Amino acid sequence: MTIRAALFDMDGTLVDSKIDWLAFRGEVDVPSDGRPLLAQLDELSEEERARGLEVLHRWESRGAASGEMIDGAEEILALLRGHDVACALVTNNSRSSAELVIERHGLRFDTVLTRDDGEVKPAPDLVLQALERLGVKPDEAVFLGDAHLDLLAAKAAGIPETILIATPDWMLEHIPAEMRYTAVKTLREAHAEIERLIGNNSSRR
Ligand SMILES: [Mg+2]
Repeated sequence: MTIRAALFDMDGTLVDSKIDWLAFRGEVDVPSDGRPLLAQLDELSEEERARGLEVLHRWESRGAASGEMIDGAEEILALLRGHDVACALVTNNSRSSAELVIERHGLRFDTVLTRDDGEVKPAPDLVLQALERLGVKPDEAVFLGDAHLDLLAAKAAGIPETILIATPDWMLEHIPAEMRYTAVKTLREAHAEIERLIGNNSSRR
């Protein structure tokens, strides 16, 4: 396997936006049943949905404005760039929040996909769009995320290798037992996994 692209989730993977999604679900009164929040909000009455989206925008904007880079984020992006591996950001967050995060932390991605660009994860849409824009086949990419939604979207897009970082137990419960992925506790551990994958790249040359 030769890695030509790394696709990253944003919140909880590269940036700690300090959003407690379980608490959020409590505030907008939707259950934590493993489905994406936006799909759940779509099922509410028009009034409840409008209120839910308003709360979501407030939480996300606050998260984008005050969140911090997770330890090791700059290093893993630098490692990939140093080996000519393209980097994409694929987030269910809004474009405005993603752009604010990118600007605040001086990040650089070859392409950025947000919920404003298509169907959110766990659908493969945003992942497929990222691969197409980068001109990379699914089996030449690795996905790095922290949620079951990241893994499900990457698998649906045909990406064989996903690294899940510090995934909470309630999310792990929504991953089918037969689905393969690499679980690590920190971004530093993910860094070591990426080094191993890139090592395979060079040995093929
Ligand atoms: Mg996340």
